[in-house]
Amino acid sequence: GRRRMLEHAHEPAVTTDGHAVLVKANLASVAEAALAADSGADGSGLIRTEALFGDRAQAPSVAEQIAAFEQIAESLPGRTLTIRTWDVGGDKPLPFHTHPIEANPFLGLRGIRAFREDPRLLVDQLEAICRVAREHPLRVMFPMVTTVEEVDWALARLDEAAGRLPDGRPDALEVGIMIEVPAAALRAEALSALLDFVSIGSNDLTQYVLAAERGSALLEGLTDHADPAVLQLIRETCTGVAEGVEVGLCGDAASDPGLAVLLIGLGVTDLSATAASVPAVKDAIRAVSLVDAQDLAARALQADSAAEVRELLRR
Ligand code: PEP
Ligand code: MG
Repeated sequence: GRRRMLEHAHEPAVTTDGHAVLVKANLASVAEAALAADSGADGSGLIRTEALFGDRAQAPSVAEQIAAFEQIAESLPGRTLTIRTWDVGGDKPLPFHTHPIEANPFLGLRGIRAFREDPRLLVDQLEAICRVAREHPLRVMFPMVTTVEEVDWALARLDEAAGRLPDGRPDALEVGIMIEVPAAALRAEALSALLDFVSIGSNDLTQYVLAAERGSALLEGLTDHADPAVLQLIRETCTGVAEGVEVGLCGDAASDPGLAVLLIGLGVTDLSATAASVPAVKDAIRAVSLVDAQDLAARALQADSAAEVRELLRR
């Protein structure tokens, strides 16, 4: 029951055959970090910085960003936080970032692309992340990365920011990208060669692989992250990444307990869900073996529709 589930929320999620999975929480505010701690989250797999500072008319200073990241870290002591750099464009306006008008914003200057011409906001943010990483376990994650060249550019901006610190980039800071563009999933090995981790953004990956705008009420049947085409790209990411690179998932798919089991079966080892769903996702993982999850994943990859995948989850 629900009571037993909550009692165990603060224990790790381990399958019946001993496979441990991290279940983290997505955060969009400092206040949410306390909620995540209450829910037993194993850290945060996604801090949406454009939401964290989205109410500001002016860009937060490096010091203000450090203060917010430290506050979150103090709510989740010892647990790894994944700070995503500014993800602007498409559905994410940012008051202090000037953005051109585009005919197709979701296919335009989104995420990291928006800072190529003027990287100052990005480099300031990376400086704040580097400074906090000296005291707390942190990971930095770049959104909407599509090409190897963009990975190289992002790493160069990180080095530029780290150059402002007396001792350079902290060794403990892990570096990764979101896999939310189909091209990035297909080229996961090349893109991840210099990284510690990747994290699948199933919301945007679903939108882009099905060419169906996220949140569109007109395309309901087409925007399901349980679609076999989405699952296939998740699988390709898990099998494709370079040696030793960890694969997480921080889209809404991770908040659905049945789907979370399927994701584990596909090879995802690190989930980040809404804070409220962490106990139920942990509970679902504890109820299955990794072998059963892998069997479920194999069957889901053979399904002809998202509806068929959901039918498999129900059984
Ligand atoms: C995603 O695209 O799945 C994701 C986690 O990022 P966001 O929803 O913020 O675009
Ligand atoms: Mg996204």
